[in-house]
Amino acid sequence: MPAKIIDGKALAAALRAELAIEVQALTARGHRPGLAVILAGDNAASRVYVRNKVKACEETGVRSELLEFPGSVTEAELLACIARLNADAGTHGVLVQLPLPKQINESRVLAAVSPAKDVDGFHTENLGALVAGTPGFVACTPGGVMKMLEHEGIELRGKRAVVVGRSTIVGKPVSLLLLQKDATVTICHSRTVGLAEITRQADVLVAAVGKDNLITAEMVKPGACVIDVGMNRLPDGKLVGDVDYAGVREVAGWITPVPGGVGPMTVAMLISNTVRSARQRAG
Ligand code: NDP
Repeated sequence: MPAKIIDGKALAAALRAELAIEVQALTARGHRPGLAVILAGDNAASRVYVRNKVKACEETGVRSELLEFPGSVTEAELLACIARLNADAGTHGVLVQLPLPKQINESRVLAAVSPAKDVDGFHTENLGALVAGTPGFVACTPGGVMKMLEHEGIELRGKRAVVVGRSTIVGKPVSLLLLQKDATVTICHSRTVGLAEITRQADVLVAAVGKDNLITAEMVKPGACVIDVGMNRLPDGKLVGDVDYAGVREVAGWITPVPGGVGPMTVAMLISNTVRSARQRAG
């Protein structure tokens, strides 16, 4: 039997609808959630991501402010903008769209965002909170992956989870979240030897690499839950994940499509974090 498709688009829409109700209540109390998005340079993909984020704000009633800078922007200009947003009581989330132009030190810019407004969960204080298991903002993509697993009722305790990819924004945080849920987690990366042998042991397999067709049917344990975070643009313009969807679908128990899987969940979690920040501020 082919895998159950986890419909991230539908789940994200349901989540946004719930959030819209809370936004209405907060707005009525004078605490309308506000998200500021900083976009520097002219990266076409970044522009699409930012557009989706602003659209999700509009749909849920969150106030959004888009601050655009040319590719020649200086670090000082970005830091000044962040300082202003950190101090602005009506701004509950500050998001810096990556990548930044090459003359900018990304770490310094991300570190300047107030951890209390770091709705992307990229600040080292929030990453540290994740390691320590204390409250903090969880990065949106890993948070979205966990929501999908929870929604499908996938048991994690004592299960084997394999995460392919070890980036700070996806692979590492999602591994820590799976560990928090008592899964036994293995993290694979470009230097891993015997990838297929390891992935075949996974009850839950998360692919976050950025290489189309990396995960094929022979690498998947029958009945496993396969979460495809990857987003790859093929030469013909088609968007695909890291997983050979057609092949793996015949083996896995659950699978997320690309597009329509993790992507929409990422945006919904951004709204969720912004609403949470406004809720915390409202007291
Ligand atoms: P990075 O490039 O930062 O990290 C990729 C990771 O994959 C690295 O840890 C790298 O290993 C590992 N890797 C590379 N090649 C292999 C290989 N052959 N076998 C095993 N591991 C390998 O990417 P991100 O984490 O930022 O993003 C990963 C993917 O997820 C991308 O396609 C991105 O577009 C997508 N993405 C999707 C989002 C969504 O909302 N759906 C949000 C964010 C990202 P090493 O560390 O050794 O170099």
